[in-house]
Formats: sequence, C-alpha cells, structure tokens
Amino acid sequence: MCGIVGYIGNRDCLGLIIDGLKRLEYRGYDSAGVAILNEDGEINIFKKKGKVKELESQFDFKKLKGHTGIGHTRWATHGEPNDINAHPQSDMTGNISLVHNGIIENFKTLKRKLENEGYTFTSDTDTEVLANLIQYHFKQKNDFELAVRLALTEVEGTYGLAVMNRSEPDKIIIARMGSPLMFGLGKDEIIVSSDAAAIINITKNVIYLEDGEMAVIKFDGFKIKTIKDEEIYREVMKLDYDLEEIEKSGFDHYMLKEICEQPEAIQNTYRGRINFGNGEVKLGGIESVKDDIINARKIIIIACGTAWHAGLLGEYMLEEYCRIPTEVEYASEFRYRNPIIEKGDVVLVISQSGETADTMAALKEAKRLGAVTVGIVNSVGSSIAREVDAGTYIHAGPEIGVASTKAFTCQLMSLILITLMIGKSKGTISEKELKEITEEIKVLPDKMKEIINKRNDYKFIAEEFKDSRNFLYLGRGFNFPVALEGALKLKEISYIHAEGYPAAEMKHGPIALIDENMPVVFIAPKDKTYDKIISNIEEIKARKGKIITIATQDDNEINNYSDYILRVPKTHPILSPILNSIPLQFLSYYIATARGCNVDQPRNLAKSVTVE
Ligand code: GLU
Repeated sequence: MCGIVGYIGNRDCLGLIIDGLKRLEYRGYDSAGVAILNEDGEINIFKKKGKVKELESQFDFKKLKGHTGIGHTRWATHGEPNDINAHPQSDMTGNISLVHNGIIENFKTLKRKLENEGYTFTSDTDTEVLANLIQYHFKQKNDFELAVRLALTEVEGTYGLAVMNRSEPDKIIIARMGSPLMFGLGKDEIIVSSDAAAIINITKNVIYLEDGEMAVIKFDGFKIKTIKDEEIYREVMKLDYDLEEIEKSGFDHYMLKEICEQPEAIQNTYRGRINFGNGEVKLGGIESVKDDIINARKIIIIACGTAWHAGLLGEYMLEEYCRIPTEVEYASEFRYRNPIIEKGDVVLVISQSGETADTMAALKEAKRLGAVTVGIVNSVGSSIAREVDAGTYIHAGPEIGVASTKAFTCQLMSLILITLMIGKSKGTISEKELKEITEEIKVLPDKMKEIINKRNDYKFIAEEFKDSRNFLYLGRGFNFPVALEGALKLKEISYIHAEGYPAAEMKHGPIALIDENMPVVFIAPKDKTYDKIISNIEEIKARKGKIITIATQDDNEINNYSDYILRVPKTHPILSPILNSIPLQFLSYYIATARGCNVDQPRNLAKSVTVE
C-alpha cells in the first residue's frame, strides 16, 4: 500500500533510489529500505523504521556503488513497523530480495508449506513468505523468471512487487495485481515505481503494467508477459502532468482522492475474510477472543470523533444481529466517570491512527478493570494495536486528508464483519440474511463507484448552499450515525455549523430553528424507516426548510418531498450507511471548496489527536 522504486542502468543507483523514495514521501509510511547489487555481485540491504531521512542518517552509503537496486517505503499490513519487518525482504538464503506493496492473503498456508520444506522466517511479514516461495521455485527450476511466475500463480491477494536475484543479477522482475506499478524508459536506464512521482524527474516515457502482468527489466530492454506466460505488447505513454498533480493522483485534494479510493479501500477491508460460499467471516486477529465476544454480558465501544460515529453504528448492528447489549462511549468521558466494567465485558476501541490519546487512556482503564479488549485500527503496529488483547486492521491505506473519509467507511465494514462473524456463530442471524448480506458486499464496490462517478452532480447543490450559516442532518436507525458523521464532515472542513439528529427527535427542539434559510439533509433509504422519514420531511417542509434527500435510486415518491435529491443504489440496510456516507462526503467537500477552505488541513484540527 506504499511505495516501490527500482533502478537498472548506467548510473550509480543508490542516490537515485533514495531520491525516488523521498518523492513518495507524501503518501505517508512507517519504514524505508533499499537493496543494492554491488560491484562484487553481492546484494546489500539497508532498512530502517521511520523516514527515508533516518535511513540515510543511519548508514554510511558513501562506498556503496551499484547499478541495480530496489527500494521501498512501507505502510505495514502484517507485522508492526520495525527494522526487521521493513522491506526489502529476503529469502532464507539471502539470494532473493523483494519489495512488495499489498497483501498476500494466503501467506499463512504458504508459510506452513515452506516450513515443512525446511524454510525459516525472521520477520512477521507476508512479503517474506513470497521471497522464500520464489527461492523455493528457483531451487527447483534454476530459472528466475519462471520461479517468479510459478510463485505468483500460488499467491492470493494483491501485489505490486520488484524482485532481484543474486544468481541472475542482470535483471529486476516486477509484477502487478491490484497495486499500481510502472516503469520509465530513460537513456540507458529504466526506473521502476509504484508512482509516477518517482519517475517524472528522470523520464516522461512510461509503461504501465496491468493486473496479472509481470515484466523482466534488463539494462538493455524489457519484456512484458502475463503471469500465465502470454507475451504482451504495450505502448509507451507520455507523462504530461506535474509532480503535485501526481501526488494527488490528479485530484485537487487528498480528501477528494481518498473519497474516490473508497471502493478499493473497502475491498481491502473484507478481502480474504469472507467465504462467499457459506457466508462465514474469519477475522484472524480476533479469533482468539471470539468466544469472549459471543459470551459477553456487554460490549462497550470506545472511540472519538468520526470513529465514535462508526462505533454508534456498531452498537445498532451488534444489538440487532448479535443480540448483545452494547454501549458506545466517548473515550474522553469513559475514563473519568468511574465506568462499570465487569469481568468478561468486552471493550472494542476504534481509532484510525491507533495513537489517539483519549482512546489509548480509556483502553488502559478498561484493561485495568478487567475487560477483554479488541481494536479496530488502520495503522499497523500503532500503540493501540499493540495494547489491545486482539484486533482487526481495516486496511484502508494511508489517510492523509485530516477529515476522515475512507477510514470511516472501512471502520463500518470492519464492524459489519465482526457482526456477521458473531451473529453466525451465535445463530442470531439467519443463514438466508447472511447470504443476502455477503452477496451484497460483493457488489458494494461497484455501487460505490456509481456514486463516485456522479460526483459532478453535487457541485451545483454545493454552490446553492455554500453561504448557509447552519445545516441539519437527519436520519433514522442505521442512518442516524450517518447523519452525525455528515454534519461533522461539514463542520470540519467548511466551518458551517451543522447538527445531526435522529429524524424524529427533531420535533423535540431543533424544529424551532427551521425557516426558509435552513437546509435539512435527510437520509431516506427505502427501508423500514422510510414512511416515518417521509412524515419527518413533511414536518420540515411545512416550515419552509430546504430539503436535500439522500434517496434510493428507483424511489420516485421522494421527488414530491425534496428540493434536491442525491441518489444512491439500493443495497441491504446494514450496508446502506456505507453508500449514504459518500454523497455526504462530497457535499461537504464541494461546499468547503466553493467557500475557498483548505479541505486537507482545516484550521485547528490535527490528523491524529495525540493529546488528551
Ligand atoms: N504486506 C506488506 C507488509 O506488511 C506490504 C505493506 C505495504 O504495502 O507497504 O510488509
């Protein structure tokens, strides 16, 4: 999920690779490393937790000469960020050096197989397994290209990778499945990267690999084929954008990029965790506490901000589908109010960064009181991830925009997976509904893409409301937390005051605020709450409020009640918060940009709140 750079050519490559890695710095990462083939045919590896700067300051690179090398910035998915888990990873013999972005889903099975063959491992990464698998095939066939191909046919998951072999030092082999990879053709040199940012200062002539393809890169040329061994001809493309555009993948802001990345991010959250045949969900990281959750007297979800909204939906889902009493707590309140925790209670903490100080303090308090603790975290190896008894990573990838978007929807997906896992084991969710939900999860990324593709439609609504002073967001049931999150997003990046309420609660107070200047956003999916929501809309309409609805695609009735409609595809109610969140993210984004706000770094906010 982070960055790859590789070089083969007539220049000394260490500086070039380090420079390339620095150009990937904007993506955020936790460790960095390089492998250089030196003039004696040895591969030297230098790697370090932290920034590229630390890598440079730690080692004396001066004497290291070499014309072939690979480098990596890591965003850990398997194994905490430390020096050993940093890439390049090598096989047991040190022959193969590999940098990898993505996740090898079946790494445990492959690891077992290799262990039976006598292979040993030093890191916790999935990547090291792949390095050994390549060496395993190389030993049998004595052909590097074939070895990589055979290894990749055994692999399930995602990868962008670059690999070197001491026994065939004249080449770098690269391959791609679900994680971008390209190479640039310079004069007497080829530079490989996961990101055009590392290439553009050397050449503008690039070749993009497609999923399921690999390339053998040599000093004097390259060859592309599929993993199934079919030769490929690919046109050279010209990069015609500048560095800043590349960093944001052509989007104006990281936030917009991250909103648009959600279909992929969600897939990474559930990938390899659902058996679509029988609806069974497996979350390796919380297997050890599954029985504690099933038998819990009570679950307490602890979080802050956006993660708290995800937690609220967690409460609704766990109570509905698992029949376990669940409460949601603000981390900052929990620890100071003498909470009641009894032995066997389960505390679930949610944090994108895994470093949120309030959440960490509440987690420690929960542990002190004897709770079983479970984490839902994005950053692998973060403090919270290490402190909990068990946990699951959301695998959303680095989130750089300060206002959380993809981490929120991936947190929701993680909570859905936990709900399905527990519901099935307890028998509190029917096999039929489980099947319906998992089938819907399969098509969810495409439905998310449909919404994202229509994003230009939202701009004119944003233009209409950019000068509003207040907004109300209303939803019921599973979509009440979505209303809260929609309001928070608007506040955070546009500085417009906004509140979220359960739709029916509005008449107990906030209705006094309604007049013709008050925009009210209703989340109104066609589900069991629909008729009630329509009545709530009527109440606002009677008082001349402006109605914006998030409505299901084929719902024509809603036209009679709405001034503006944002359509989303139909899905199962448990998944509808994920779809409904996307138009709300866009609405905030376009209102904020229309007002000229800095959406990636809103005033007064920090990405990871590490103070109490
Ligand atoms: N799964 C690999 C690891 O955790 C690669 C992570 C990345 O994409 O940076 O080391």
